Amino acid sequence: MAKTKTVYEDCDILVIGGGMAGTGATFESRYWGRDLKIVCVEKANIDRSGAVAQGLYAINCYMGMQWGENQPEDHVRYARNDLMGLVREDLGYDMARHVDSTVHMFDEWGLPMMRNEETGRYLREGKWQIMIHGESYKPIVAEAAKKSADKIYNRIMVTHLLMDESKDNRVGGAVGFNMRTGDFHVFRAKAVIVAAGGASHIFKPRAVGEGMGRTWYAPWSNGSAYALPIAVGAKMTQMENRIVLTRFKDGYGPVGAYFLHLKTYTQNGNGENYEEKWYEQTKELVGEYIDHTPVPTCLRNHAFIEEVKAGGGPIHMVTTEAFQDPHLETVGWENFLGMTVGQAVVWASQDIDPKYTNPELTTSEPYVMGSHATCSGAWVSGPEDLSPPEYFWGYNRMLTVDGLFGAGDTVGGSAHKFSSGSFTEGRLAAKAAVKYIRDLKDEEIKVSDKQCENFKEEIYKPLENYKVGRNEITAGTVSPSYLLPIQGLQRLQKIMDEYVGGVGANYMTNGNLLKKGIENLKILQEDLENIGAEDLHQLMRAWELKHRTLTSQCVAEHTLFREETRWPGYYYRGDHMKLDDDNWHCLTVSRRDPKTGEFTLEKAPLYHIVD
Ligand SMILES: Cc1cc2nc3c(=O)[nH]c(=O)nc-3n(C[C@H](O)[C@H](O)[C@H](O)COP(=O)(O)OP(=O)(O)OC[C@H]3O[C@@H](n4cnc5c(N)ncnc54)[C@H](O)[C@@H]3O)c2cc1C
Repeated sequence: MAKTKTVYEDCDILVIGGGMAGTGATFESRYWGRDLKIVCVEKANIDRSGAVAQGLYAINCYMGMQWGENQPEDHVRYARNDLMGLVREDLGYDMARHVDSTVHMFDEWGLPMMRNEETGRYLREGKWQIMIHGESYKPIVAEAAKKSADKIYNRIMVTHLLMDESKDNRVGGAVGFNMRTGDFHVFRAKAVIVAAGGASHIFKPRAVGEGMGRTWYAPWSNGSAYALPIAVGAKMTQMENRIVLTRFKDGYGPVGAYFLHLKTYTQNGNGENYEEKWYEQTKELVGEYIDHTPVPTCLRNHAFIEEVKAGGGPIHMVTTEAFQDPHLETVGWENFLGMTVGQAVVWASQDIDPKYTNPELTTSEPYVMGSHATCSGAWVSGPEDLSPPEYFWGYNRMLTVDGLFGAGDTVGGSAHKFSSGSFTEGRLAAKAAVKYIRDLKDEEIKVSDKQCENFKEEIYKPLENYKVGRNEITAGTVSPSYLLPIQGLQRLQKIMDEYVGGVGANYMTNGNLLKKGIENLKILQEDLENIGAEDLHQLMRAWELKHRTLTSQCVAEHTLFREETRWPGYYYRGDHMKLDDDNWHCLTVSRRDPKTGEFTLEKAPLYHIVD
């Protein structure tokens, strides 16, 4: 390690992850903190990083308050309904009241927005979605961040948060390594905003072997947004609330524009409407929630999963009617070309022309994220004008570690933010972080060289493990003393799939399975001490796996704690198959003790601040 160069960067605000939330945070930090030093560090390159890397065809969260289309209260009701009653309404309202201003900036910055020719308003795809020509969405927001930051570091994977040694429970920055040069980077910062996206590939994906990596959620999103705060003892919420998506089979192409704009619909293998068949059975499980409009996303998944289990598959999207209209046919294809080119390629390779063949749908493997139709993530303070005392501790979007803020997928309890809401939440977190720094006045952060050196040794250990361990191989590639990142990843995915409710188990788990899964995850954690990395890319894979594993432990602990099936269609607790509002109309909050690695869980009250 002595040969590895260490690069120090001292700053006021450090933004980890330059995706939608990170670019929003970087931009807004400069707005409020003209004199502050602002640094953004990104694992890939912010021009094409994160879940929006390929572009999007719709901005899924826009109120349209200027035209009286929707109000923030409406959005809170919508998200609450979709999440079966459980959201942080203070956070959702706060995001919704600001999100339109974010979208207006995107428009000013040159994002091509589609317009309704008759009204001149943004063209609606659905009640909340507006349509864009969004192939260049990400480079556009990246430009705003680049113009705002003192420095953007690309190709650096952040592996650990640093802690201030002069005060208990306060963040002091972060460390990571450059995946091209191998340099060790130390960022000492007064405030840190974690915006590192959600987690794919913690459950075994449907696509394995040659198709591995073909998932709905960005395969490079590895749960750092959760692992970094969990490792320093920050509290997390609703981590059991993983998401399963109904998407076009094999390419995971989006269905939103198809349902909402093209008015396509689904049917089973015999051409029947299967959703109504499962109405009574679903009502038995969740009661009146099935009668809500719109039907919560998880319950629509539930009907799909039940129908397939009952032998009614394959489930098709009926496209052949809509595609007779040349305009809708164009929209249908453009939808993929703007954000999921792979789906068009899959159809071409399988001889599917949706004008003549109704394509198959599937339900995905579960993912963990905080900004889509799900709300796993960190337990954060809300805004002071809205949040009840249990949800407020000084600074908006600050985690339970002082000076540590979150936005986008990082933040739990606030679903349906999507790209625009995540950027908005980054802005909200940044404004609060600037205030936090101003309030610190001259107080310094203390991070010793020893703390940094210890991390340095730990970070590069997989390279050392490989270098030494490969000498023990007498034939083939399997080492007696290290495991490779791909082997560890497959083991993690198998554990999560079989014990924590993945596709292989039809999303089913129970207390006994979860306890065994948690035990196996602990053993995996121990074995990851012996992970080997042959080069810097594999070193990144090793750390991605470590972050995925810590995230998975948290997911499993939460799933064990909540003794009900709140979201059938996302997962099932076989030993508690019914939704139980008497005991579980609450949020779950966990904390992992950084010294012992043990999790403790508690219930947190759920406040309805909107009627
Ligand atoms: C398949 C898919 C389709 C979607 N479709 C739409 C849509 O049509 N409309 C819409 O409005 N929204 C859509 N969304 C939602 C939207 O993309 C997300 O809400 C948004 O990107 C979340 O922002 P974020 O900043 O939290 O995460 P991201 O935008 O994913 O950014 C996270 C960033 O952190 C970086 N990072 C990760 N780990 C580290 C680390 N250890 N160190 C440094 N950097 C790190 C990543 O490289 C990435 O750049 C979609 C999401 C997905 C996954």
